[in-house]
Amino acid sequence: MKLQDDGSGTHVADSLFPSREERSRADSLLAELLDSSLERVGAGPVTPTIDMDRFRDELARFDFAVPRPLQEIAGWVCRQLEDGVVHITHPRYFGLFNPAPSFPALCADRIAAAFNPQLATWTTSPVAVEIEQHVIRAVGRQAGLDGNAAGCFTTGGAEANYTALLAALTAASPDFARAGARAFAGPPTFYISSEAHLTWKKAAHQSGIGRDAARLVATDGTGRIDVRNLTDQIEGDRARGMLPVMVVATAGTTGAGMIDPLIACAEVASRVGLWYHVDAAWGGGAIASDRLRPLLAGMDRADSVTIDAHKWFATTMGCGMFITTRPQVLATAFATTTSYMPSQLTGRDPYTASVQWSRRFVGLRLFLSLAAGGWAAYAAHTERAVALIERLNTRLTEVGWAAINSSPLAVLCIEPPAGSAPIEAIVRYVLKSGRAWVSVAETEGRKVLRACVTHGRTGPTDIDALAALLIEASRLAQDAAPR
Ligand SMILES: *Cc1c(COP(=O)(O)O)cnc(C)c1O
Repeated sequence: MKLQDDGSGTHVADSLFPSREERSRADSLLAELLDSSLERVGAGPVTPTIDMDRFRDELARFDFAVPRPLQEIAGWVCRQLEDGVVHITHPRYFGLFNPAPSFPALCADRIAAAFNPQLATWTTSPVAVEIEQHVIRAVGRQAGLDGNAAGCFTTGGAEANYTALLAALTAASPDFARAGARAFAGPPTFYISSEAHLTWKKAAHQSGIGRDAARLVATDGTGRIDVRNLTDQIEGDRARGMLPVMVVATAGTTGAGMIDPLIACAEVASRVGLWYHVDAAWGGGAIASDRLRPLLAGMDRADSVTIDAHKWFATTMGCGMFITTRPQVLATAFATTTSYMPSQLTGRDPYTASVQWSRRFVGLRLFLSLAAGGWAAYAAHTERAVALIERLNTRLTEVGWAAINSSPLAVLCIEPPAGSAPIEAIVRYVLKSGRAWVSVAETEGRKVLRACVTHGRTGPTDIDALAALLIEASRLAQDAAPR
């Protein structure tokens, strides 16, 4: 192809790499577009209303043969999203920990995208790498981990948990990196409660030790791991020739927000010599608050923790953290040498100590949010969410509903009074109304209605509206059946 670099102002790739003037014009239009879009979202239904047939027809017309103006397409995409997703930015979204993102996190996303630094190596992006490491150390300290704690930002809790498993396997046998599961004289196993997140099953699969290696320990009737069962299962497995490598405690189960007995689990892990991981993907937000932090006592004894910034810390999606007091294990687990990378600074270059290679500067979101609000802003954010859930609990239990979980965090699992519509029908009614988003969850084998405060601007009025809607649904939902 012929190169056109004649300064004439037209270039075949202008649509991809427009001029500065063009960019800033498009930027301000986009800002307005998003503003009005999100305003409509806040005033409209939480749940999708889109006609998917119409949408698919329009989508199919994008055959990418004829270029179209960016502004027009961006407008089209926003309109489809307005009607075509569950709105986690809606104050009446009471869902699965997905937050309305903090404004500093949104700003950080813009900055990271604009510079697009490569975080594989320190050499190429020293400032970005050190900002992330600074945040990881600060979060580690706030979680009570010792001063050597280090780690990395991840795409989320799933990757952080996977990292924990690889670290535990590597700590148990340094030969694991080379020989995989063959490094062990028997099948390696690790221990999670039956209420733990299923990312652990995937992690077991990914690591090559197989899903059966994730041993489910029965809970105590309140949704917390039963420590006697834990000890018995580890001993039994050992007697059968298995090789336990890790105990995982969950600090804030996904369904019911229950916190495993973290101190007792730490003691079991240390007595039997296993890696101790605390999965606080969501509940970890509680470290920000002096009032809530004591709930996580025992987390300070962990070899590693998972905390998602994209849950209670309200950053944009794709921002988890893995933090460990034994970072040298990561260097063993992820050691790599190549000729084409600009450096191989073990312990300093993220690609030599983490799962990913090319990596986005995601940690900036938490850095900017923490720097702009301080821990105090997150303390207020988390305490407020807990208070709102207590209010919902009161509103519903005073009319005969029964709380099923006793979580001190911001999630309520509840059942309607006898004779009400079944829980699935209530949830369907709520979602169909578009007036809120809640879900059906199962805790200890029991179906419950689950509501969690995730939005920083959800208020008492939203809670009272949700309570009224749930009561209405429990009476009016179709296919009501006696329970
Ligand atoms: C959400 C969650 C995960 C999974 O994290 P992702 O960020 O969705 O990958 C793991 N464990 C717990 C306890 C969670 O709440």
